[in-house]
Amino acid sequence: MNRTPAGSIRPSQIGETVTVSGWVQRRRDHGGIAFVDVRDASGIIQVVADPAAHDEVADLKMEYCISVTGVVRARPEGTQNPDLPTGEVEIGVEGLLVLSPADTLPFMIDDRVDIDERARLRHRYLDLRRPRMGANLRARSRATAAIRRTLDAQGFLEVETPTLINSTPEGARDMLVPSRLREGEFYALPQSPQLFKQLLMVAGVERYFQIARCYRDEDFRADRQLEFTQLDLEGSFWDRDDVLDAIESVLVAVARELRDIEIPRPFPRFTWQESMDRFGTDKPDLRFAAEIVDLSDIFATSRFGVFRDALAGGGTVRGIDVGPVEWSRARADALTERAKELGAMGLVWMVVEEDGTLRSPVAKFLDAAELRGMQDAFGARAGDVILIAADRWKLAVEVLGTLRNDLLRPAGHEELSFLWVIDFPLFEEEEDGSITFSHHPFTAPASLDEMRDNPNTAVSRAYDAVLNGVELGSGSVRIHDPDVQRQVFEILGIDAETAERRFGWFLEALRYGTPPHAGFAFGIDRLVMVLQGESSIREVIPFPKTQSGVDPMTGAPTWVDDAQLDELGITLTEAAVSRRDEGDELDQPTDG
Ligand code: ASP
Repeated sequence: MNRTPAGSIRPSQIGETVTVSGWVQRRRDHGGIAFVDVRDASGIIQVVADPAAHDEVADLKMEYCISVTGVVRARPEGTQNPDLPTGEVEIGVEGLLVLSPADTLPFMIDDRVDIDERARLRHRYLDLRRPRMGANLRARSRATAAIRRTLDAQGFLEVETPTLINSTPEGARDMLVPSRLREGEFYALPQSPQLFKQLLMVAGVERYFQIARCYRDEDFRADRQLEFTQLDLEGSFWDRDDVLDAIESVLVAVARELRDIEIPRPFPRFTWQESMDRFGTDKPDLRFAAEIVDLSDIFATSRFGVFRDALAGGGTVRGIDVGPVEWSRARADALTERAKELGAMGLVWMVVEEDGTLRSPVAKFLDAAELRGMQDAFGARAGDVILIAADRWKLAVEVLGTLRNDLLRPAGHEELSFLWVIDFPLFEEEEDGSITFSHHPFTAPASLDEMRDNPNTAVSRAYDAVLNGVELGSGSVRIHDPDVQRQVFEILGIDAETAERRFGWFLEALRYGTPPHAGFAFGIDRLVMVLQGESSIREVIPFPKTQSGVDPMTGAPTWVDDAQLDELGITLTEAAVSRRDEGDELDQPTDG
């Protein structure tokens, strides 16, 4: 088809005959003339027809797919549309063909209308016709193209690793796929290509990347999907800074591509300890200033029991000046409630009065030296609100960090703040007191002695990239010595026999001259989300699932035939069978 992109037509083409093909965005009839906005992937053009000469025009409805041939002409004086790149011209229709009619739409193809998300996902192909969603799809494609260009220029090899594997521990549940040929056995879908990329280092690839689909069967918390896409990368003879350098080059290239800005490098770096101390989180948002301050010294001998007890119990007293936020009894109560939800015993607040004194329900318990100490610590101005938490260190800083975000975080992502958090703890304590890895079990410790002697406080060689308070991804220098790897498994409570059974093949590979190596992976969904100013990854994933893991369009996951289950040697539980027989297919396609 010899077609001209609708959005490309300009006054320089006046007088030319063109054919545009696309969708009817809108039809208006004015004084016996029909105006039709035709939209294709490139934009919108107005076409004008005399219904007397073209009776097909009368039948055109929204989203009909049509082809129009006509002459480009200037819009009459006063009818130009400065908001449209094609706003100075229109096409006078000479021939019009309906390529495909459209049923009545479930919702308007319009960025300005608010549509229920389920309905959007149920008809995602229509949702994707909306300009904003089309722009997100294009942005994503340009992002991955920029990633490939940048890494190709640095000599990286793009390698595909398998998606039917045995399990890769990244801290989530595996998604399993039954094997038909080996009844009763299962493949796992990769939580990440972690072990395969390390094997590629053993294989001498030296610089690897992949735009990899990863699967994690998590209960839906926040903004997560069962499957997501990462840029996965690894390099040999590399140390941490080689990784940070390569990843920065990619992130800067994508920001340039999508935002047309130059992000300064190197990105700021914070150790995990510093990030927690100052911002109460390992993914700080630096688009606003407020920092947490240690007030423990000021209150070391306080008469105020809450502070005194926290300190005596080995805890801390920390505060943050959140600035002149609107303050009321109701707000104070809501924030205290929030602090309690997060596990704190309570929250102390103070408001700086015009004369510099502090107004607070607890002011009467504090002496003059303490109040002065507070004023000095914050240099606060009249109207500022100061929040104080007295608790175990981690809880205190996390509560203040969360409130800092709740109160000050800007909506949207106009400004961009990239940073690194380095030197993460090697291990974390689980609720039951057992120890688990904080990144994954293949992360190198900063010091072997420290790892053996004080696993609880040992530092790792892991790092995270953060953008506007969103964790983009993680990486680490890896263990390349099989003995160290065994020791880490042991500390994690994976005994030698289990380690051999699950990872023997990997430990063996490490024995054949493994180069030191390090790498990283970041979520492409999250990066594109922030750069596009979206607040959910579902806006930049073409066909996402709902928060409960369902695809309202295809109905997945669905029941399968008994014959299929038989072949796989799978028997459903009674509970599942009765759910099926009761027709529990709530998530099947509906018209809603
Ligand atoms: N495999 C890790 C992850 O998916 C990233 C890495 O360590 O390279 O988080």
